[in-house]
Formats: sequence, structure tokens, C-alpha cells
Amino acid sequence: MRYQNTYVHLDTRLYHKQPPTPLDNPRIGHFNMQVAQQLGWADDEDLMARWVEILGGQYLPADFEPLAMAYAGHQFGQWAGQLGDGRGLLMAQVLDNNDQPQDLHLKGIGLTPYSRMGDGRAVLRSTIREYLCGHALTQLGIPSSNALGFVVSDTRVRRERMEAGAALMRVADSHIRLGHVEWIASFAPDLLSEFTDYMIDTYYPECRQSETPVLAFLTAVVERTARMIADWQLIGFAHGVMNTDNLSITGSTLDFGPFGFMERFNPAWINNHSDHTGRYAYQNQPAIGHWNLNTWLPHFMRLEGVTRETLADCLAPYEATFMQHYQQGLCRKLGLPHQRDSLSLAFEWLTFLEDNLLDYTNSFRALLALVAPNDYPYEQQLLSTMMAELNDEANKVWQDWSARYLAQLQPLSMEQAFNDMQANNPAYVLRNSMAQRAITAAEQGQFEEVNRVFELLANPYDVQTIATDLDSAPPAPHAPQMPISCSS
Ligand code: AMP
Ligand code: MG
Repeated sequence: MRYQNTYVHLDTRLYHKQPPTPLDNPRIGHFNMQVAQQLGWADDEDLMARWVEILGGQYLPADFEPLAMAYAGHQFGQWAGQLGDGRGLLMAQVLDNNDQPQDLHLKGIGLTPYSRMGDGRAVLRSTIREYLCGHALTQLGIPSSNALGFVVSDTRVRRERMEAGAALMRVADSHIRLGHVEWIASFAPDLLSEFTDYMIDTYYPECRQSETPVLAFLTAVVERTARMIADWQLIGFAHGVMNTDNLSITGSTLDFGPFGFMERFNPAWINNHSDHTGRYAYQNQPAIGHWNLNTWLPHFMRLEGVTRETLADCLAPYEATFMQHYQQGLCRKLGLPHQRDSLSLAFEWLTFLEDNLLDYTNSFRALLALVAPNDYPYEQQLLSTMMAELNDEANKVWQDWSARYLAQLQPLSMEQAFNDMQANNPAYVLRNSMAQRAITAAEQGQFEEVNRVFELLANPYDVQTIATDLDSAPPAPHAPQMPISCSS
């Protein structure tokens, strides 16, 4: 691997150097060969032979320089003060095959000075959820952390019940969160200038071309965050805990806990059972992204040339960037050109899904069969299932909408329309029930279902023979929601 451990050379107040605390008898959970190749991990015999020991904290390769990062954050809208890596360590930084920086961060690996009341561990349940979700989002084409692999162990961890301890080697372009800057502003403000230079040089080097690199950098963070959240909305992803300590400065999805993928369409859907007010409900995500950035940006006023006015200019593109990306994506999901009448059809369609509690993923995918049923047997099945759920009144709305939709599609190149629809409407997402079946089996020591779901989600836009009916089955319309909490 092409090591590039740079964080460890920053001011020592920003982190604590320490090795992992080993897990007891670590065993293979899953290994992502594609990520191993991307990192150059796969080219190193020692790393390949000893990956389980490395993830279990038993063996530390010579080039790793593990450290726990200090950061702070606003949690559920309240200043939470110092947080930091309480159970994960930045193990190494590398340049991947595309010359992009990547962090290797081992999560679940024992106490650090930032553990507060926690035990420094992660349970198998949440490790599998994070592992499959990072993979799912990456393969869907959404900027996200991913993972090299995970191990399970004999270390027992107490949550609501006793569970198996596990560790995940997370791979992300950066582990710097908005909360890093909040920590610096509160606890070491003299470091802000140097740290900002580090963020620009490492993650936004193109901003050096600007006459005002700091403002260019802040604007770029705003735009990347807006695009990431637009991607979430389009795919139906609810992050669950959009605290400032869980948002990366690179606009890449980070820190999955109580996340979920939309099933029966309800914009007010709250996946996180610990989110009593619905602050992080699906439909609030765009506004919360703005709130987070608006809370974050004023810290930079300490820097020369940064004023309240220039910061307002940095934040201003947020809404337009989000809307443009979201609306374009919505049109692509329908195979229509990005224009006003496509958008009105799209919003009517979303209202129809909401009114009839239809499955978000399946309904979009089913539209392929509306035009070419013979070419799309799987989608034909989805369409029949959807129509069988409609009452007479809903059926009339559907007939009317689909006739206007078809009329809008007809003058277009059908090939282009199908390509757009197929490339933007996955056949499979990681439903909570799918993750749960994989977890239940893994807790009994059987990882075949983790393997299968991993394979399935490797190509989420393609209909696959390894799929079962359960992979596309939403819960019953008014079924109680599966409880997904912050406990992890
Ligand atoms: P999260 O909700 O996972 O984003 O975590 C919020 C903060 O709590 C971070 O500083 C984590 O490192 C810390 N944390 C979460 N779980 C644990 C744990 N079991 N032990 C120590 N720290 C933890
Ligand atoms: Mg976190």
C-alpha cells in the first residue's frame, strides 16, 4: 500500500496515539476483495495473510500509526462538547489506485481517552449493518465510506443484552468531520489556520487555484454536502443521526447507525427510534444539512479575509445545488428530460406513492414494465403487485397519471429513457428486514446470508438470480416499524 500517514504529523493536541485493544479470538466475518484491490492491500502478502489478526487488533503492521482523533459536535441540535474517536482508531492513511486519499479506520477496538461512558466496543449487529450499508451505497454510486472487512470475536459486549463484539475496518476518503473544526474552535483555536490548510491541501487541492482558497474550500464543502443529501433523497436513504460529528468534510456518507432505506413511501418517516422529535426524518435531511453547515461555517471567521458576508456567499449555493441535483435525478428516475412538465409529473407520482403507501424502490423500478412489459419480467411482477394494492379510486389516479406519463415519454429516445431508468432505479436496496435476517444468522455463526446480501448489493441495478422474493418485499402497509435505535 502507498502509505501517506499525515494526520499523525499534525499538532499532538488533535489526537491520541495508541494501539488497538485486541478482541478475543477474532474470526472472519467478511472481506471485501474489491476494496482490498482499490487500496493496494491485496498486493501485500503479509496484509492478506494476517487481515483477521489486524482487524482483531492482535497484529499491527509496521507502517500503521494508530491514533484516536479528537472532535466535537452538535447532537440533535445541542452543543455536545468534546466527543472524539471513542471506539475507533485511524490506523493508516494511504493513496488508492486512483491516487485518492483513503483512511483505514478500525472501529470497535477498545477504549480511548475519548470513550466517555462507552466501552470502546461495537457489536456484531451494528457492524454488519454498517458493513452492508457502506457497500450498498458505494455500489449504488453514492459517495460513502465503505469497509475492507469485519471480524467477529468471543469478546462479549453488553448492550440491551449481551452480544458478540466485532470490529470493522472502515475505509473513507476522510474521517474529518464538521465536528473537528468545532473542537478546534472550542479547545485549540490557534490551530484553525494550520488545520484548514491541511483540509484544503489533502482533500480540496483544486481550491489552491482560487484567489481565496479558504472560501473556495468552504463553498466546495457546501456543494458536495448538498449533492450527497440529494443522492440520499433520490435513493430513499435516511441517515438517522445527522449530528455535526457524523458529517464528513468531503460530502461522503459516514457513521451509519440507525439508517434505513425507504420502503413504503412516507416523507415523514423516522427510522431512528431514539429520534423522538423526528429531527432526522427523511424529509428533514436537506434542511438539517443546511443547519449543520450554517452552524459550522462561522468558526472560520477567525481566519483572515473571512467575514460574515463572505461566509453567506459560501452557504448560498446550498439550496440551488441541492434542488438542481435532486430534480435532475428525479427526472432521470422517470426517464424524462429535466424540464418543468417532467417535474410536475414526478411530484404527482411521489404524492401517489405516499397516498397509497407504495414501496419507493419497487414502484420506480416497476415503471420500466409500463412501457415494455415483455422486456422486463421482474418489473412486470412488481407492477402487478403494485396495482393489486390499489383501490378503485387509486386505480383511476394511476390510469390518468400513467397515460400522461406515457405520452410524455413517447417522443423520446426509448433507449435513452430505459438506460436512465435502469441506472437510477435500483432493483434492490438494503431493507432493514434483509439486514436483520443476515444478522440473525450471523449471530448463530452462519455468514452465508451476509455473503449473499453482499453479492446481491454489489450490482443493485441488475435483476439477479440470487435474489429471493423477500429481498423486494416491503413490510405490510400499516405494520409496526422494526425498532432501530442508536444502540450499537
Ligand atoms: P455515534 O453515535 O456512533 O456517532 O457516536 C457518538 C460518539 O460516541 C462518538 O464520539 C463515538 O466514538 C462515541 N461512542 C459511541 N459508542 C461508543 C462505545 N461503545 N464506546 C465508546 N465510545 C462510543
Ligand atoms: Mg459518530
